[in-house]
Amino acid sequence: MTISEQAKTLAKKVLDQPATEHDIAVVERQLGRYPRGMVAVGARCVCGRPLAVVTRPLLPGGVPFPTTCYLTGPEAVKAISHIEAEGKMKEYNDLLAEDDDLKAAYERAHELYLAFRHEIAVAMEDSEEHIEGTSAGGMPVRVKCLHALLAQTLVMGEGANPIGDMALEAIRHEFDPNVCRCTVANED
Ligand SMILES: [Zn+2]
Repeated sequence: MTISEQAKTLAKKVLDQPATEHDIAVVERQLGRYPRGMVAVGARCVCGRPLAVVTRPLLPGGVPFPTTCYLTGPEAVKAISHIEAEGKMKEYNDLLAEDDDLKAAYERAHELYLAFRHEIAVAMEDSEEHIEGTSAGGMPVRVKCLHALLAQTLVMGEGANPIGDMALEAIRHEFDPNVCRCTVANED
């Protein structure tokens, strides 16, 4: 599958299941603020609660928003913060500098991110003018935010972002989409 085909398939899946009021309410509790521009839940815990959301490229009010895949699950956010504090970003940046295959896969993750966002932008009729070429997390050459990279892995599946995949493996003892450790209320 080409990147463009993969992006179309992923975007269709997301757009076919737009966010419900209940989803938005749970994400609002997770973040402690209203999730502006939320298009859909991109990944869920085994219990059904959102883990990552897909956000439109241009927020209501005209604010450009490049982080299309956004991590919302508090347990995942916390687990990633732990490995960032432990120095995982330096480890991954060093790996990127040494490993050409990893570097190529990471560049591909960046291209897929942009292609996916483009599909969302077209569907929502949002301009990408101010974020053209900008993905998230430091891609395509650096690792700057593991939260963003894990969000891509959760939304697009393993194999989409090699660093996001590594981060997920590194936190499995603390966060795993197949093991519910959610604490945020699921009732409105
Ligand atoms: Zn759960």
